[in-house]
This record gives sequence, structure tokens and C-alpha cells, in this order.
Amino acid sequence: MRKLFPLFLCIFLLTGCQPQAYSSQTFAMDTLMQFTIYGRNGQEALAHASARIQALEQLFSVTRTQSETYAVNHARGEWTAVSAELYELAARTLDLCRETGGALDLTAYPAVRAWGFTTGEYQVPDGETLKELAACIDYSRVELEENRIRLPDGMELDFGATAKGYAGEVLARELREMGVECAILSLGGNVQTIGSRPTGDPWRVGVQDPEGEDYLLVLSVVDQAVVTSGGYQRFFEENGLRYWHIMDPDTAAPARSGLSSVTIVGDSGTLCDGLSTALFVMGREEAAAYWRAHPEFEAVLVSEDGSIAVTEGLEDRFVLNTGYEDRDVEVIRR
Ligand code: AMP
Ligand code: MG
Repeated sequence: MRKLFPLFLCIFLLTGCQPQAYSSQTFAMDTLMQFTIYGRNGQEALAHASARIQALEQLFSVTRTQSETYAVNHARGEWTAVSAELYELAARTLDLCRETGGALDLTAYPAVRAWGFTTGEYQVPDGETLKELAACIDYSRVELEENRIRLPDGMELDFGATAKGYAGEVLARELREMGVECAILSLGGNVQTIGSRPTGDPWRVGVQDPEGEDYLLVLSVVDQAVVTSGGYQRFFEENGLRYWHIMDPDTAAPARSGLSSVTIVGDSGTLCDGLSTALFVMGREEAAAYWRAHPEFEAVLVSEDGSIAVTEGLEDRFVLNTGYEDRDVEVIRR
């Protein structure tokens, strides 16, 4: 069974605001995206956003045989020249792999595929296969140099953990350059905001209850990205066990860290996306320690037992949703 909740972050758009709103939906990067842009050149900006997202997918897709990523993955140990954009995404993802001590690993693709997450042919690989797959996951063997990428034969890159956040960041930059001052872009589990709502109030972005259809809490956000990773977003079940798409690079199996979702809030969509995946792999304590050592983001950690923790920068920026007011929320402090 494959389950996809493309719009699992509920977005509350203000109605009746002054500038005109332009909205469109597009399917890209394996998810439904929704863009809402306010203001005079909204129509033009929407067209730009849709075209750009398709162009970026053409670079980053791991399954499209015409993509640059596919070319890198099938170069059999040789160098592949890539566009400046793929190079930038690879370099920034690799930095995050190093910074997170390999909780994020852009070479996880053979494991992701073996479990069936790109093919839809879901299966639980046997122990021997998992050992072999884990031995092939190693970001330190990826070489980047002058817009070229090289990796050992048998290893394959996957930008699934950072591409949507990067795309949101690129779109936000380009839309701002076009004069857009007010927009909200939902790219599956990634929300990128530009400015604030037309009224001047912050955007309100809901964080999904990993155990249900509703949202747990609502975050106030201005000009930032909000990215969630969770085991509930994409999974299959076999013999009563659930297996999801976020891999522990050490075992090549779904990461079971005790967390059921991680939401990251920050200025950089790429960073937020990479860290949502990495902190999910790390688990509650390691994630809190990582946050203490890195000032550039805030986080909401939801554990499998339903408990919620938020980092202190979010303390005054969230409200629990109706029906969840009784939940304890621990504030993680520096
Ligand atoms: P996200 O939804 O941002 O958490 O990213 C999950 C996607 O990134 C998966 O669908 C895989 O394509 C890929 N992936 C899974 N586990 C990892 C990992 N530990 N490091 C990097 N990429 C991963
Ligand atoms: Mg991610």
C-alpha cells in the first residue's frame, strides 16, 4: 500500500484580503503542489513557478532516464558534467550529510529502491541484502569538482530529502525578484512562504497529526520555510508492521528512532528539508542536541507516544489545534 498525503500541512489562506490571489496546482516531484501568489503580477509569477518546478524536476529526478541525476547515477564511476543548479543542490546536500554525521546521506538511493519506494514494488529485503545495501551508502565517497560529480560504480544519488526544499527556496528567490511580496507555496510536505499574509499577519501553517487526518498545531510563519518529514507520509505494511521511506543509512532499513514526525522552520528551504529527514533519523535526544549546536532553525518533534516537543524559538509561535489542547508540549531550551 502506498499512501501519500501531499497536502498534509494544512494551510489557512486568508479570504477577503486586499490584493488579488492567484492559485494553481501542479503535480511535480511525485507530489501535488499548490501555489498561491498575491498581487498585480500574480498570474505571471504563477506561470513562472510552474515552469520552473518542472525544469528543476528534470534535473533532480532519480527515476527519469533523461534527468541529470540519472546520468550521474549511471556513469559507472566516471565524472559527469552537471548544471550549476544540480551542482549547488549536491554540494549543499553533501554539506548537510557531513554536518549531521551521516544521518542524512544522499547515497541512500539503492536502499530506497530495494524497499520499493520508487518502483511501488514494496518488499522487505532479507538481512544479507540489507548488509550489502548499507555498505554502499557512504556520502564521503561522492566527489564534487568544477560542476562535475563522480561516485563509485554501484552507488546512486537521491535528492528526495532536499530537492523540494531547494525548489521552494529557488522559487521564493525568483518570485521576490519578480516583485512578489506575498505568497505561499506548498510543495508536498514543504511550505515556503514569501512575506506575510496580505493583512500583514503571519502565515499560519498546520502541522499534521502523524496518527490522524487532522493537524496537531498551527505555526505562525513570516518569510520562512516549514518542512515536515514523517513515517506516515509514505509507507507500506506487511505482517502488521509498517515500513516507511526514511532510511537509517547505517542499516539501510526504515529509521525507527521513536519519532513519528519532525517539522523544521527556518530561512533556508534546503536546510529545513535536509534537517527534517536527518533529525527524524536521529531521534528525540540527538535531534535536540543538534538543535542546541545549530542556531539557524527551529523544530517541532512529535514522538510515537504522541508527545510533542518544540524548540524555544517556537514557544510563542504555535497554538494547539482544537481537540489537542490537552497535549503536553515540552519546550526544548538551549
Ligand atoms: P523527506 O520526505 O524530505 O524526509 O525525504 C525522504 C526521501 O529522501 C525518501 O523518499 C528518499 O528518497 C530519501 N531518503 C530516505 N532516507 C534518507 C536519508 N537517511 N538520507 C537522505 N535521503 C534519504
Ligand atoms: Mg527532507
